[in-house]
Order: sequence, then C-alpha cells, then structure tokens
Amino acid sequence: MDQDKLHLALISSPGMGHLVPVLLLANRLATHHHLHVTILAVTTQTSPVESHLLSSLTPSTLIHLIQIPSPPFSHLLLPDDSVVTRLAIMMREATRAIRSAVSALPRRPHVLISDLFSTDSLPIADEFGMQKYVYVPTNARFVALTMYLHVLDKEVEGQYVDRVEPLVVPGLVPVRGKDVPDPMLDRGNRQYDEYVRMGVNFANLSEGVLMNTWRDLDRRSLDALICDGILRPVLKVPFFDVGPLTRDGYPTPLEGIEVIEWLDKHLVDSVLFVSFGSGGTLSGRQITELAWGLEMSGQRFVWVVRPPVDGNAKDGTFFTAGIGSTGPMPTFLPEGFLNRTKDRGLVVPLWAPQVKILNHRSVGGFLTHCGMNSIHESIRGAVPMIAWPLYSEQRLNATLLTEELGVAIRPEVMPAEEEVGRVEIEKMVRSLMESEEGKRMKEKVKLLSLSAEKALEINGSSYKSMCEFISSCEMKMKSA
Ligand code: UDP
Repeated sequence: MDQDKLHLALISSPGMGHLVPVLLLANRLATHHHLHVTILAVTTQTSPVESHLLSSLTPSTLIHLIQIPSPPFSHLLLPDDSVVTRLAIMMREATRAIRSAVSALPRRPHVLISDLFSTDSLPIADEFGMQKYVYVPTNARFVALTMYLHVLDKEVEGQYVDRVEPLVVPGLVPVRGKDVPDPMLDRGNRQYDEYVRMGVNFANLSEGVLMNTWRDLDRRSLDALICDGILRPVLKVPFFDVGPLTRDGYPTPLEGIEVIEWLDKHLVDSVLFVSFGSGGTLSGRQITELAWGLEMSGQRFVWVVRPPVDGNAKDGTFFTAGIGSTGPMPTFLPEGFLNRTKDRGLVVPLWAPQVKILNHRSVGGFLTHCGMNSIHESIRGAVPMIAWPLYSEQRLNATLLTEELGVAIRPEVMPAEEEVGRVEIEKMVRSLMESEEGKRMKEKVKLLSLSAEKALEINGSSYKSMCEFISSCEMKMKSA
C-alpha cells in the first residue's frame, strides 16, 4: 500500500440499499481517483445477493473488504420497532466491533466515512486521529430535510402529516405533510427520535456530507446547501454532490438470461418494467389490482413478483426477503392471468437483473417504488417512470420526479396507504407508454441521463465535487 496515498474507510450497514451505494463509492474512489479504500460492511444473515455482491467485488489492490457480523441487538428492541429503529440500534451496538476492526488495520485510514445508520461510530475517528464524513446515498432534498429536522422539531407542533400547510425548510421546495419520510410520520414513535438524532449527528459529528446526487437532478436543494448556501449557517458542514454512482451490472446469482432473451424479441421502448426494489412488497389485493391494470393496459411488461404481505407493506421484507433466488411461479395472481398475458407479459419471481433490464432498448417505462438506486438506474437508462412510493423517503423522491423533474407520473392515492385501482393503473401505464405526455417524459429523462453522464466526466460537476472533497482530505492529512 502506498503510504502517502489517502486511505478511506467506509462503513456500510446491512441491506442491499445500503451496501450497494457504499460499494459504488468505494469503486469510484479507487478506480477514478486511485485511492485506497477499506470497506467495513456490517452484515446480518446475508441474503444470497448481498453475499454474492461482497464475494464478487472486483479484485483490486486498492479495495479491501472487512465483514463485521452484526452483534446481538434483539434484546434492545420493542415488538413493533420499525426497520429504521432496528438498523439504528444494530449499528450503534456494532460500534465496538467497528472500532476493533479499525484498530486492527495494518495501516490506519486517514478518513472514516459512515453511512446513514452508522453515524454513532464517527467518534471512533477522533480516537484514531482520522477525519470523519457521512455518505448519504440519496438526494440533497432528503439530506437537507433530515438535517433541518431538529429545527422543525422545536418549531412545529403536532404531527407533520396532519398539517394542511407544507413544512418550510429554507431554500427547498416546501415539503407536504403526506410526503415526509416514514420516520417523520409519527412523532411518538422511536424511529422519529432516531431520525432526529441522525440529522443532528450529520452536522455535529462529521466534517462534511457526501451525497449520491448531481446538479441537474437536485438543483434547487443543492443551491440551498451549496451555491447560495441559505442552509449552510444552520447545517454548518460542507456538502459534496458526487453522483450518480450507479451499478453497471454487478453479476447476480440469477443472471436473468431468460428475461433478456425475452426482451430481445420486442420493439424499442415497448416494455414496462415493474419492480419494487430489494424488499418492497404489496398486499394480496394490491397485487390483484396491479395484475388487472397491466392486463387491461394491453402493454408489454416484465413484472418482478413477490408473495403478498398483508398488514405491513411499509417495511417491506427488509430482513427476510428471499432476494437473489428464483422462486416457483406465483400462485397468488388472478386466475388465468399468466395464460392470458403470456404473449406480452413476463412474470419473474422474486428477483431480476434490474440494471440490465433498464438498459435494454425494449424497455420504455419503469413502474418503481422510488428507491434512490432504482431512480438513478432508470435515469441512467433514460427510462421514464410511474412513481409508486412504498416506504422510507420514497414519497419525497416521487415528488422530485413528478413535480420538479417531470419524468414520472404518480397515482392519485398514496400506494402504501390506499389501494391503487386497476382502472387508474391501466390509465397510468397507457399514458406512460403511448401518450404524448409519456413521450415528453422520455425526452426529459434522456436529457437527465446525459446530464448524469456529464456530471461524472472529468470537469463535470460531480467529478469536481469529488475532487474538492479529496483535496480537502489530502490537505488535512498533510497538515496532521
Ligand atoms: N434490484 C435488482 N433486482 C431486483 C430488485 C432490486 O437488481 O429484482 C436492485 C436494484 O437494481 C437496486 C437495488 O436492488 O440497485 C434496490 O435499491 P433501491 O434503492 O432502489 O431500493 P431499496 O431496495 O433500497 O428499497
């Protein structure tokens, strides 16, 4: 290892949505900036895809991976604790193991970067004379709201969701009560306190925040954080927009050859891809409505189907989803659906090679749960979307796509709260796939896709932002 070279340690909490962005950041730092990276990946009983991702990391002398088994933490949980609370508690409990891992490294990293859930580990950096940053692999609007929440917490009374007036965060497009991230839905729930704490930690425990976003995606919020800096006096730390860091197709156990072969047979932009991320699930009734809506639309589709989860669709199946495995053909779809749609629809149980699919020329629309990785992958593939947010910060993301960027349409109702009916689904699918509005969205998303590419090129906005971050770390490293 080159002793003079900057060495960064990145902490990842469990779950595909957390692990993938950390791997991508590591990869970017190593391949484009030739820096040393150690990934400290806290893992639970990993899903097949997570294990595969970890074991298939591109061998590189610059990237070093350490897996840290998650410590016991169930004794600290209440029966109805959400995923956010569980992850926050798990990662707090993992601090000691993370510290031991850092301490045992043959060469001490200069910089410690926590993810969203591991900010409580940042004080480890003080002990070892390291710099400390946070990486939030989502958009600037979410980062700003999270970091401003402690102010709203003091100023706003009652539940945010019940408010008629939107929440005002200086410089941002006002946030409607119904769009707030899940942890803000109930101020009496433990996840709310965890979330406020995270936002405070970003500012108080770190020297800066890296975000997986870019200027043209997130202009207004980035202006508030960086350019006119209206939020800087409150949020205190510097911000770096370094994205979009997206997968270009890590191998997955299910290579999905059948899907790609099926797509090869269809016309350009003629297929709608339907998928709800790594853990999103729907109720049985919603699956039925979606099946009918797809059938009635007459459009071609590829649908990644998971068994219905009635009662708790919001948290998805985060810790239990059988991702990465093929499954039997679903029996819970409406009778005769598979047969009636066999010429123009493909149902894929559990998991599909999403990046490959979104980059296939036949795919012209994506019905997505609006996870940030899925959004980035869709934009990179120039695919307009139907925004179907389920949980986490996805309603906020859906608003960005529909109201600020105009690259998606959205149902009238909130999908996780109420059922989206078959007639509305049919209408949205037709509108995206065959209307003038759909074509306009396609044009806009193409421009956005190009802007993403440019942002990452040498002298692009995200490239420059990453260079600023690295220079600032190197200056501090030299003066230490
Ligand atoms: N993914 C995939 N195949 C699937 C479902 C998901 O490859 O069938 C990948 C997807 O490409 C994305 C990630 O899993 O990179 C999901 O991340 P996202 O942020 O969209 O949602 P989350 O799973 O965190 O809710």
